[in-house]
Amino acid sequence: MTTATPDTTPQAGATTREAPASNALLLHACCGPCSITPVLALRDAGLEPTLYFFNPNVHPLTEYLRRREGLGNVAARLGVPVLFADEDDASAAYPAQWLAAVAALGPPKSQTNAQTGAGSMADMAARCPLCYALRLNATARAARRLGFRRYSTTLLYSKYQRHEDILAAGQQACQGACLAGARPDVSFHYQDFRPGWSEGIRLSKEWGIYRQQYCGCLLSEHDRYHKDLQRAIFPG
Ligand code: SF4
Repeated sequence: MTTATPDTTPQAGATTREAPASNALLLHACCGPCSITPVLALRDAGLEPTLYFFNPNVHPLTEYLRRREGLGNVAARLGVPVLFADEDDASAAYPAQWLAAVAALGPPKSQTNAQTGAGSMADMAARCPLCYALRLNATARAARRLGFRRYSTTLLYSKYQRHEDILAAGQQACQGACLAGARPDVSFHYQDFRPGWSEGIRLSKEWGIYRQQYCGCLLSEHDRYHKDLQRAIFPG
């Protein structure tokens, strides 16, 4: 993989509303660190990514803002355009869309162990595919609206996400974005970015990009820190 020579002076990420080139790709970006390797790998493949930040699954708002800023810093470092969905629609920054997406699962059956809430909101196997679909459906609609022929997601970089579920959600999203019965005019670009895992971590640390400690939603934050709660309840 070709690594970019980093500009040591972070600048505001470029924005674009011009008609995309034929090799352009709208890249859903979950955060800054996870975007580095996908941008470099897509460029190596001859594609021109534009980053698209749509993540109403990130809670609380202070965490959302840190990740948003981190993505802007990565965009500046790599000289890649970035679009923030909340600039067009402020509700993209609110958790309501994510809550609506997972609401049908019902409330978590366990507050301390995600593994015991099978089939409920606490169950990542049930919850995360709905979260992927929410974000990739929005990305596919944006790609179509903005004239991109293809879209993808930085979620395919993570070793911790459910890779097969992301692929399924991405492929289904383009169908939903197109008119019923019409030939899809946007397609999901699948690429396994995980081989660049270590290099992405190295560059994000070298560049001082904010690195989050949990996936995003309030339930994943609870999963990340529930052992601290257990130690507080049962000291020693
Ligand atoms: S754990 Fe991550 S992918 Fe799963 S629902 Fe929460 S934010 Fe979405």
